[in-house]
Amino acid sequence: MTEEKILADPFGRRFPYLRLSVTDICNFRCSYCLPDGYKKSGCESFLEKDEILRLVRAFAGMGTWKIRLTGGEPTVRTDFTEIAAAVAAVPGIRRLAFTTNGYRLPERAQEFYDAGLRAINISIDSLNAKKFRDITGHDRLEEILDGIDACYAAGFEAVKINTVLLKGLNDGELEGFIDFVQDKNISLRFIELMRTLDNQDYYKKYHLSGETVTEKLLARGWQQIPRDEGAGPAVEFTHPESAGKIGLIAPYSKDFCKTCNRLRISAKGALHLCLFGTGGYSLRDYLQHDDQTEELQEKIMELMRFKRSKHFLHQDDSGATPHLASIGG
Ligand code: SAM
Ligand code: SF4
Repeated sequence: MTEEKILADPFGRRFPYLRLSVTDICNFRCSYCLPDGYKKSGCESFLEKDEILRLVRAFAGMGTWKIRLTGGEPTVRTDFTEIAAAVAAVPGIRRLAFTTNGYRLPERAQEFYDAGLRAINISIDSLNAKKFRDITGHDRLEEILDGIDACYAAGFEAVKINTVLLKGLNDGELEGFIDFVQDKNISLRFIELMRTLDNQDYYKKYHLSGETVTEKLLARGWQQIPRDEGAGPAVEFTHPESAGKIGLIAPYSKDFCKTCNRLRISAKGALHLCLFGTGGYSLRDYLQHDDQTEELQEKIMELMRFKRSKHFLHQDDSGATPHLASIGG
């Protein structure tokens, strides 16, 4: 009998969840991520579908059951739905999600669902059209809101909204966001702005602690709910009068790393043990043939010993990530 392989780190954490970037390219220019738009840097040889499949099979053989496709903007890849369909069909993968800026979602939601995607996170930083345009560089709020309806119509099981909390830009919109989710089966999560190599000044100007949101929610009768296994990093709140939930992703909060259950693969095939780590470990040489699964699994297991117990954001060390589009947010 072969020994069962389970991915774990030296601190006893398990990794059912993999965030897989399929491209660094993005068509938006969010002010905290790619303020000048995507710039080509060196070679753009992103993982091919077959390489992605070999990777996902190897992870699935070590207990990973949830995959999130991300980027850059994953849907700009012309073979995105083909990749999704292939990943969804890998034995052991029970949940396939993706994170998107929602571009062209009204036309494409059904195609994404039919490919096997079941959970979607859509980034919406403001419900005010002008602010949305100022933050993302695109006057597309209405199209993206229509995309949410298209996701429900297509059959998506989970629709979530990611909102980066930005001091003076959208922190005054809490009431508007609460109203927005009130009659929708949706979870809106505020993400604390993260410092990366490229956004140091922006971070100083706009970062706001997630605690301000928690305090306001608790004061309005929202209650924290327990976290599911395989769930992302959000702490979620419900309210008896709201169909929707509000969550908070607060990497700067105490104990954020204790429940870490996820690993990341960059679009070029590097394993990133932490979003705020010092770099990635290329796995690409192990992704070239179908018979490399064991070798690949051994390599990944070996690298797990380098996973640190926590990030060092509080020591002003945000790692080597230039912006989140480069590693898959
Ligand atoms: N392009 C897709 C999108 O925007 O949804 C997927 C990739 S994007 C890097 C993933 C998520 O990271 C988005 O919700 C985005 O708002 C968030 N993000 C990007 N840079 C961030 C930062 N510096 N701090 C916090 N969240 C950030
Ligand atoms: Fe593109 Fe997403 Fe970064 Fe915005 S947050 S620039 S949509 S990758």
